[in-house]
Amino acid sequence: MLNIIIFGPPGSGKGTQSARIVEKYKLKHLSTGDLFREEMENNTPLGREVRKYIDTGHLVPDEIALRELYNRASKHMDSPGFIFDGFPRTIVQAEALDSMLEERGIPICLVISVEVAEEELFKRIMGRGEDSGRSDDNEKIVRRRLQVYKEQTMPLISYYKEQGKFVAINGMAPVDQVFAKICHAIDTYRESQKVIPVVE
Ligand code: AMP
Repeated sequence: MLNIIIFGPPGSGKGTQSARIVEKYKLKHLSTGDLFREEMENNTPLGREVRKYIDTGHLVPDEIALRELYNRASKHMDSPGFIFDGFPRTIVQAEALDSMLEERGIPICLVISVEVAEEELFKRIMGRGEDSGRSDDNEKIVRRRLQVYKEQTMPLISYYKEQGKFVAINGMAPVDQVFAKICHAIDTYRESQKVIPVVE
């Protein structure tokens, strides 16, 4: 299985790049943000529960994010791999994801980090807010989301660097160039995993 985490702050283009990766490598896209927005739109009990965190720019509690991610992932264990988008966001989530995947013998292969300067992120999200209709795309909330990212999610960078899985990509480049670099990282990984037959 090819399991990839697409990592980066809000506004780094993770969603756009994930859609392209899914199309090319036929992976199952697992986005906890999309999942929560769907629940909020359908006004389910879970949607009502998570809204108070999302609308104020805070993270949904780990136990909820983990439970929902597991439920969704376990329905798609037959897929050629997963692309995790917006998950994990805390060390607790990363450790839980590692144990879930390792139990099944399908660990994370690569963590692709899409890197974008903070002011550019802010501009992008504020621009997006004009037409995304997302309730969490306004100035005060966006600042808080970026702060939460720095405090709670950035520690994952060293977590995955220590595992030797972290690849940083310049997300300031045009979308096609970012995608080309992501593909290069994935293809290099796949190449390195090929078993070379022993010639006797
Ligand atoms: P996103 O679309 O990934 O930016 O997620 C939107 C919002 O959903 C975030 O600001 C969080 O409030 C919540 N959220 C999404 N994924 C997670 C997660 N893995 N852990 C906690 N909260 C999350």
